[in-house]
Formats: sequence, C-alpha cells, structure tokens
Amino acid sequence: MAKNSSRAIGRHMLHIPGPTPVPDRILRAMDTPIIDHRGPEFAKLAKKCLEGIKTIFKTSNPVIIYTATGTGAWEAALSNTLSPGDRVVMVETGQFGTLWKNMAEKLGLKAEFIPTDWRHGADPAAVEAKLKEDRNKEIKAICVLHNETSTGCLSPIAEIRKAIDKAGHPALLFVDTISSLASADYRHDEWGVDVTVGGSQKGLMLPPGMSFNALSDKALKANKTSKLPKSFFGWEEMLNMNKVGFFPYTPATQMLHGMVAAIDMLHEEGLDNVFARHNRLAEATRRAVNHWGLETVCKDPKYYSPTLTAVLLPEGHDADAFRAMALEQFNISFGSSFGKLSGRYFRIGHLGDINDGAMIAALGVTEMALQLANVPIKKGGVQAAMDYLVAQHGSAAKQAAE
Ligand SMILES: *Cc1c(COP(=O)(O)O)cnc(C)c1O
Repeated sequence: MAKNSSRAIGRHMLHIPGPTPVPDRILRAMDTPIIDHRGPEFAKLAKKCLEGIKTIFKTSNPVIIYTATGTGAWEAALSNTLSPGDRVVMVETGQFGTLWKNMAEKLGLKAEFIPTDWRHGADPAAVEAKLKEDRNKEIKAICVLHNETSTGCLSPIAEIRKAIDKAGHPALLFVDTISSLASADYRHDEWGVDVTVGGSQKGLMLPPGMSFNALSDKALKANKTSKLPKSFFGWEEMLNMNKVGFFPYTPATQMLHGMVAAIDMLHEEGLDNVFARHNRLAEATRRAVNHWGLETVCKDPKYYSPTLTAVLLPEGHDADAFRAMALEQFNISFGSSFGKLSGRYFRIGHLGDINDGAMIAALGVTEMALQLANVPIKKGGVQAAMDYLVAQHGSAAKQAAE
C-alpha cells in the first residue's frame, strides 16, 4: 500500500525520545523578525529566559544557556570545573553514559566506570561504595544520567546525593537531564546537584541546538581553580554578560523566543501535571508492551523511565528492520538500539507535547507494525493501555467533581 508511494501521508509520527515534536504555539513564537542581540528589546527577552529557565531546573542560582547541543553542555560541565588528570566516575547506565566518559577521556581526565548491565539505573549503594574506596579523596566528580535515553532507565538523583554525603566524600555531582528535564520531577537545588546538564529538544519541546548548565555555589567555586581549557564554554564571561541581559556572542535569538513560549506552556499546565502526564503515558505504554508479551529493556520497575520505553523483540527478530518497515508503512519513527542489545530492541518515545490520543495512536501503529512483522504478540495491548488511561481519567474526573 505505502509501497511505491513517494509521499508520506499525514503528519509524521515522531516517537523517538528526542528531538520531540515542537508545538505550533512555539513554532509561531519563533516566527518573528530578528532583533538586535545588543538592543534593549533583546535584553528583556534574555532576562525572561534566564529567569524562567531557573523555575524548570528548580534553582535560585544562574543557569547558563548555550547555543550548542546537549553534548556541548556536557563539555561545559567538565571543562569549567576540572583540571587535567582529575579522576571522574561515570555510572555506565548505557550509551549516553559511555559517550560522556569518552568525552572526559578526550578532555584529558581520568575517567572510570561504575558498571551496570545497561538494564538498570544508577545504584546509590554502588556510588557510596566507590567513594568509600577512595580514601585519598582523589575523585573529583560523579557523573550520572538522570534518564538514560538508550535504555529507558531513570536514576534516583536525591538518593545518589545522600550516598555521596554518607560516604563523606567531597566529589562534585554532575547530572545529565537532557531527556528528563520538564518531563520527570527534577530539583537541582533541593537534590544538591552541582552541575545539571539540560537540552532544548526533548521535554522542553524546542528544536535542537540549545543546552544548559545549572550551577551550584560549589561548582562556581570549582570554576575558579579549574585548569582544563575553556573558551566558548567558559562560565565566567557568560555570567558577567547575562547579568545585563546579553551574551558574549550572538545567541540563537529565535530559540529564545520559543523558549519563552515553552516555559509559559509548562507553567500553564503545571509542572506537577506535566510529570503526572509523562508517568501516565509511560505506564500506558508499559501495559501495552506487557500485554503483547514483550519485555522492556529496563528490568526493575523502580528505574522505569517516564519519557521512553525500550522494547525487546524476541530472538530472531531484527529491530532495525522492524523500525524501517514501520516508517515505510505507517510514517512513524521509533528510536534505535545500542550496545550489547544492538538490533534487539526499539524505543518508543513518550515525552514532550504528547497527549493520550497521540499516545494511543502511536501504540496502535506499533501493534499493527508488530503484527505485520510477524512478531508473536497477544493482540489487545492498545486496549490494555486505553483501559488504564480511562481509569486514570476517571479518578481525575471524580476528584474534580468533589
Ligand atoms: C539526547 C541526549 C544527549 C545528547 O544530546 P545532543 O543534543 O544530541 O548533543 C545526551 N544525553 C542524553 C541523556 C540524551 O538524551
């Protein structure tokens, strides 16, 4: 049917875990004439963004806005606080944890892993044990992904903070929230994180190309003595210029217009409602997967990701061929697989501006594609997801009526 057709019909169903669909309201906010990035109108816009983004990270300290992808903000976190040869520890939750470690090595740091099987989040007890072993307190930073996007595992950041404190260790805590910010509960100040790395193109519903560092006082202090080279990513120049509403160089002005709209939309919905929606859609997705008789990559419910679900196909089924077929037949994109399980699973993104109807459509298409690929499943996963959503809306409606 879709075969031999040169046009994909309807809106593309973008169900990868980022970039996520950009809402029309944000696209329209960005569709505005370019303004002078050293003029008074710009300063007002920048100050709105710099203040607004703090409410998303839940911090009273400055948040740095980079014209760079999330990877740039990773580099900024390391290069602004550390010195050549410093020891850093990464929790190897999956592909992104691995990439961050590779970057640390390229920057001249001594990076080591706390390993996992890529099917669990970061274990606070393992962090505590690692730090207790370090009697000379040589480890300068612990790096954790709040949400490991390659596997769909969420890590308990507040508990990891407690583990560091229990070990009595002075290491800085760096957290990547690129695929969880504005979609899973996150509290930079309350959880005692030193640098939080964020990106524009996932929960924030913006296009790719902008990223963030949220800072602690301790991180700002480390910045004063850190010796890794930093120029474009240097905090000091940024912070000085930001005070008066400017940047050291030309920022992505259209992205900032979009960011004002994105922050407004998140607060209009209410951050707690945003988190509840992501949890609800994630649970609906898992109910469908479970009904189909398939397994999620994330093995332990306590680490289930609210923003994506990675689904294993049975032995003998090629997940990459499955994704290609689903794209061709149904105009839907799923996320790819990594590492030891490469080719074995696909990822369903459920983050950003997604409502129940869009989720059910995506699960319906997934169920059809699984059938078409002759994956042995029990039909009716979508019904299981719908039953769950109906029950959730039912209790919400009842509460509203009381
Ligand atoms: C997407 C993502 C990145 C990479 O971000 P880019 O914007 O592609 O540089 C890093 N970490 C996590 C957890 C991600 O989800």
